[in-house]
Amino acid sequence: MKAIYKNIVNEKRHVLQDVIPLATPYMLAVDPCNLCNFRCKFCAMQFTRERQNYIKQMMSYTLFCKIINDIKEFPDKLKVLRINGQGEPLLNPDFCKMVRYAKEAKVADWIETITNGSCLNAKLNQNLADSGINRIRISIEAISQKRYEDIANTNINFDKFIDNIRDLYERCRGKAEIYIKTVDIAVPTEKDKNKFFKIFGDICDRIFIDHIIPLWSDFNELNDYFELQKNVGTHGQTVKQVIICPFPFYSLVINADGDVTACCADWKRKLIFGNLTTTSLKQVWNSDLLHKFWIDLASKKKNDYEMCKKCLLPTFDCNDNIDDYGTKILKHLVFREDTYVHNR
Ligand code: SF4
Repeated sequence: MKAIYKNIVNEKRHVLQDVIPLATPYMLAVDPCNLCNFRCKFCAMQFTRERQNYIKQMMSYTLFCKIINDIKEFPDKLKVLRINGQGEPLLNPDFCKMVRYAKEAKVADWIETITNGSCLNAKLNQNLADSGINRIRISIEAISQKRYEDIANTNINFDKFIDNIRDLYERCRGKAEIYIKTVDIAVPTEKDKNKFFKIFGDICDRIFIDHIIPLWSDFNELNDYFELQKNVGTHGQTVKQVIICPFPFYSLVINADGDVTACCADWKRKLIFGNLTTTSLKQVWNSDLLHKFWIDLASKKKNDYEMCKKCLLPTFDCNDNIDDYGTKILKHLVFREDTYVHNR
């Protein structure tokens, strides 16, 4: 196998408790499309999509460009711009144009996306390779056509699917990293794991098998389908309960309609900080609502928020444990409140 077996956790992380509150978020996830052509059993979004009031939506190119222009108002660049969210991003026909716009605007050190890989074809692959994207993460849901039908409720031509990934890898060589990952429930036996590595190990730069975790707050259906190992985190790490969720202190999620939410776990959109069709991103980042949320999180009052009450994401997927630094973070936040609140 040519690919390295390694997850993509950044090991050179800033010490979050020393830098909060950030003047510029480190990471933004912008959702170009909340539709998906798969119906994966482990995905909360398929249930959301069935809700009557759910509006299926592609982000317009105009809104995307407005968001990128908003980012320029911050003092620094983002570290990561992730162009994906609740759906399959490559269904948006403007996807490559969006990446190019963001790249040329120089608003982020790193641009990446997560795709199910089903839309790849020679023309799109070349466009992606030329777009300036730094990494394409491909989620593999199964290792045969039959299992794709079962898990993702989709009928893909598995051989063609592999050929398209190989083609993408060849076109992106030296330009963008191709990262292929699956979850342990998709390859439950040693034989399955070997098959996964045999199929994909030579057509990507990096490969990994994640442990499936309860990613979405209050999504109990996951337990109906799979037996979850409750003591193992995404990357196989031992799980320790996390009280202060670190994610909203350095990142935000922008949904396809412009709604800004705290994290990908808030799939029911229980807490919306603003909408970028009418507000600027900087206004949202400096808003009283988000500031209060940070204070409540640092005060270990996450249970005051319905979406956070049952959320296990920080516990299972945490790379910045700030539980011991609540008081220090609060001091920084309150200092900022006293000093800057009237200038915001
Ligand atoms: S606890 Fe969960 S729902 Fe709340 S902000 Fe963190 S990741 Fe989001």
